[in-house]
Amino acid sequence: KREGRNSIRLFKTENQHQTMIDEAIMEAELYKALDQDELTVYYQPKLNVRTNRVHYEALVRWFSPVLGTVPPLKFIPVAENTTLIQDVTRAVVYKVCEDIKHTPELFKDAVTSINLSAALFEPDLIDAHFIQVVRESGITPSNIEVEITENMLMKDPIKGVEIINHLKELGFRVVIDDFGVSYSSLNYLRSFSLDGIKIDRSFISQIDQHHNEKDISIVHFIIQLAKKLDLYVTAEGVETKEQFDILTSLGCDEIQGYYFSRPLPLEKIKSTIHHFFDY
Ligand code: C2E
Ligand code: CA
Ligand code: CA
Ligand code: CA
Repeated sequence: KREGRNSIRLFKTENQHQTMIDEAIMEAELYKALDQDELTVYYQPKLNVRTNRVHYEALVRWFSPVLGTVPPLKFIPVAENTTLIQDVTRAVVYKVCEDIKHTPELFKDAVTSINLSAALFEPDLIDAHFIQVVRESGITPSNIEVEITENMLMKDPIKGVEIINHLKELGFRVVIDDFGVSYSSLNYLRSFSLDGIKIDRSFISQIDQHHNEKDISIVHFIIQLAKKLDLYVTAEGVETKEQFDILTSLGCDEIQGYYFSRPLPLEKIKSTIHHFFDY
């Protein structure tokens, strides 16, 4: 038994060691990737069910010639440990603005959201690596939405108010991503001038499984609360027609998920966008 425990510990240590090596390699490769412009942005269409308008979420993609496809959930945390997250953010914001500029037929009347890392939730950093990039591109801020998480706001609510007010004054939309996963207190919603919330996928994935009444009730409650507070509600991770139908009947404004479309490269969006209206 004792040996077993030791060997498990050894195994864990080796694993941790390997993780450190992996992260160091990834960090070095990411540094090169930024230099060699290996990052791209995919767009996931979102459907506003009231207006039938399509909006987008920009999601970074890294196809590394050395590491293969590295998912953002793997490399964003590594970037966040260093200042590389600043370069990644600038690269994403720059690409989104370029795409908006060069593809007005898709983006002119749409809102495209960009995920903001917690590591940039600092007035000076947002200014240097986000706002400034948009300004230089000449893109109207109202075409861009900033997705932030509850955690970011609640870590320092005073700073949160300052940042949100600044973004709003400039004309950006601001929404809460992954709504419902971290804070049971809803009081904070009153303190910030937000445009909307995105109900986390974990709630959505439950609502059609055998018509789970409790989960439907939670989503129903979130949507009603959002309406009362005049917030726009998006459901993320919608994969089935049943989920789509339940959410629209509950009054959800916007649907995002594989049911509607996966995140796609811009070229693909251009060639398939008319199909989205078949729903
Ligand atoms: P997120 O912001 O919650 O983004 C939604 C994630 O869910 C995306 O994964 C998207 O591809 C996936 N998704 C969309 N619809 C469905 C669905 O119907 N079913 C399922 N199972 N998944 C769906 P992705 O692109 O791998 O991104 C993962 C996370 O990485 C994002 O979560 C976000 O936190 C982060 N991320 C992605 N792009 C960026 C970026 O440009 N900057 C920053 N800071 N973070 C990013
Ligand atoms: Ca997001
Ligand atoms: Ca999300
Ligand atoms: Ca998420």
